[in-house]
Amino acid sequence: MTEPDARGYFGAFGGRFVPEVLVAALTELEAGMKEAFADSTFWDAYHAMLRDFVGRPSPLMEATRFTGDDGAAAVLFKREDLNHTGAHKINNTVGQGLLAARMGKKRIIAETGAGQHGVATATIGAKLGIPVDVYMGALDVERQSLNVHVMRLLGATVHAVHSGTRTLKDATNEAFREWAACSDETFYVIGSVVGAHPYPYMVREFQKVIGVEARAQMLERYGRLPSDVVACVGGGSNALGIFAAFAADPDVRLWGVEAAGLGLEASDTAASLGAGSVGILHGSRSYLLQTPEGQVRNTHSISAGLDYPGVGPEHAYLKECGRAEYVAVTDDQALAAFHRCAAREGIVPALESAHALAFAQSLAGERGAGGCVLVNLSGRGDKDVGQVRQRPRNGMETRASR
Ligand SMILES: *Cc1c(COP(=O)(O)O)cnc(C)c1O
Repeated sequence: MTEPDARGYFGAFGGRFVPEVLVAALTELEAGMKEAFADSTFWDAYHAMLRDFVGRPSPLMEATRFTGDDGAAAVLFKREDLNHTGAHKINNTVGQGLLAARMGKKRIIAETGAGQHGVATATIGAKLGIPVDVYMGALDVERQSLNVHVMRLLGATVHAVHSGTRTLKDATNEAFREWAACSDETFYVIGSVVGAHPYPYMVREFQKVIGVEARAQMLERYGRLPSDVVACVGGGSNALGIFAAFAADPDVRLWGVEAAGLGLEASDTAASLGAGSVGILHGSRSYLLQTPEGQVRNTHSISAGLDYPGVGPEHAYLKECGRAEYVAVTDDQALAAFHRCAAREGIVPALESAHALAFAQSLAGERGAGGCVLVNLSGRGDKDVGQVRQRPRNGMETRASR
């Protein structure tokens, strides 16, 4: 997998589009990161915590009943849903938390939309004994009250942001403002492969453990590599985490699955690569959903974790150079895959992961018996059960069809 150039670009994407006050903070972070990445004791501490606190390595599981089609390719799940706190996000917050401690920072801040990254950050703050402040749009605080409660149990302070649309992008702006004001003492933990350099690269390196494990598990157990690797893409961290280990295997096709929402042509979508254009958001140049005048568009997805108007710059690069391919799955298709996975595999998946599952099912049919489709099951769906319950059951998957 490519490293960004000295200015933080993957091809034409990435960079550091921030106000002057943040350049010094990013430069300090980059120096601290490089120093830590070159020290094997840092990685030893990271892997020890992933083992004992997170529960890694996560299993690789054959999804024997998922497609229900003997002529289809084998489907394998990389079980990130079994991690402590229920998703891949903890891999990254463990890494950034250890880096914050190493750099002597006295406080951690984070932004969160649905609350998943806020919970993962509050978790590592509690474990390492570093106070955490989480910025969250006031509307999201109302909508995600359970996660707000969990963050508070973990000892974090949750700040409701009342500006703008009172959602994730306003919370992100507030976190940046706070960081600019006190970066001497404060470490800003970003939750995906987005933001200004070095965040997209650093977060990928902390999520790469998913792909490294999965590739070794494939070779050890099956003596082969998958034909295809499939992952959902919000900001893109679980996808890059699994792609990174397979990028140098030319015969493995990499598929990123975005949330189409109501459809790619609809205004209610969250597919930044599929329906967006190039621009600048949260400090880097990438694809984003914007109006012709350059205003960030309101997005929609059934899954809160994919409901983000931008995408990490490395995905924009992988799309342009053709190494990864990007598709989109609608709310209804994801919902059908959610029910299918629960009823046929005994796993209630996160709605985010259900987007990857929906595409994997059709791909497995296309590939046929010789194929092997590896899906990153990024998280578990306990958090989504209430929302799914409110939707009429999608007719595609009934008891009779099993
Ligand atoms: C946050 C989240 C995502 C989306 O984030 P990425 O950075 O694109 O991986 C996907 N799945 C789950 C379970 C999440 O919590």
